[in-house]
Amino acid sequence: MSCNYADGLSPYENKGKLGLAEKFDSKDEVTEKVSKLATWIQEAKHVVVHTGAGISTAAGIPDFRGPKGVWTMEAKGLKPEKDISFKDAIPTKTHMALVKLAEAGKISYVVSQNIDGLHMRSGLPRSHISELHGNVFVERCDRCERQVVLAAPSATVGQKKSGRDCKWGRGGRICRGQMRDTILDWEHGLPDDELALADYHSCLADLSITLGTTLQIVPSGNLPLSTKKFGGRLVICNLQPTKHCVSETPLHFFR
Ligand SMILES: [Zn+2]
Repeated sequence: MSCNYADGLSPYENKGKLGLAEKFDSKDEVTEKVSKLATWIQEAKHVVVHTGAGISTAAGIPDFRGPKGVWTMEAKGLKPEKDISFKDAIPTKTHMALVKLAEAGKISYVVSQNIDGLHMRSGLPRSHISELHGNVFVERCDRCERQVVLAAPSATVGQKKSGRDCKWGRGGRICRGQMRDTILDWEHGLPDDELALADYHSCLADLSITLGTTLQIVPSGNLPLSTKKFGGRLVICNLQPTKHCVSETPLHFFR
């Protein structure tokens, strides 16, 4: 079950605002906002999309702070009702739309907080994404830092040893490192290389679009603000109000 991932993390008290009510725009409002967003995407030269757990709920993976989210339910002593294994989950229409937009050159980069691996399984090129909190289908050598894609989700979380030795070598020497899962625990810093690229693209972007995240986790949640800081547009699409939105509508437009 995918929410068992959360059970593997260390205890942590400050999980932010949980269970805020979701709001849905009317069909007309959605049509109007989508039309405006499409124009902005056409006008932009460098579009970055920031994704959170909300884009994977349609795949059956619970989010964290939604009305039925992992942390919301945990605070009530309950488990999410919807829960699918990471192995069985398949990319959603959102994931597939992002692949098409990337192929068409309409979006330049994706920054994701999701560890479910659905962006990778959707076919989004590795060169187009920073996975800031890790990926259950990727493990990394703790010595040479080479990464390996797994056929099945890793059995551990929190960057623990998987029990597999690194098989890579250089100059005739076999690396003596050990493979570890790439999933961050609360106390871990973000991977430097992934964060540097995410920061670079967020600053360079003239349009940042956030999808399915309440933007409460930092630094991930603050990256889209860099786009606005340097004169770009920021669009927030989320059913709950977010840390950075000015109204309670689910599709927020700044500027
Ligand atoms: Zn190695």
